[in-house]
Amino acid sequence: MSDLAEFHKKTAITARFDDWPENQTLLYVALGLANEAGEVAGAIKKAVRDDGGEITEQRRQEVTDEIGDVLWYAARLAELVGITLDDAVAANITKVRRRLANGTLSGSGGDR
Ligand SMILES: [Mg+2]
Repeated sequence: MSDLAEFHKKTAITARFDDWPENQTLLYVALGLANEAGEVAGAIKKAVRDDGGEITEQRRQEVTDEIGDVLWYAARLAELVGITLDDAVAANITKVRRRLANGTLSGSGGDR
């Protein structure tokens, strides 16, 4: 089992919404993921605002914690849509390699 797969499995232990309606859980988890991504951005914003863009040790710890929160929600969302974090990572690697080979790393749009 990969480290990511083990982490994915462990997130189920602390998920506390198993008895919620599925659509409510999906919305909650998607909003949680967006919220935690915002907390990562907020930590970087504060580094720019308060520390001239320097990532202090305290800020590094804050970003570490928030990225962990992002991964927790990503794992639960992956579970809800029937995939694993390993599936998402593999798909991303394939996509980025294709874009690199096609010279389309820059630009916009998902289908390039
Ligand atoms: Mg957080």
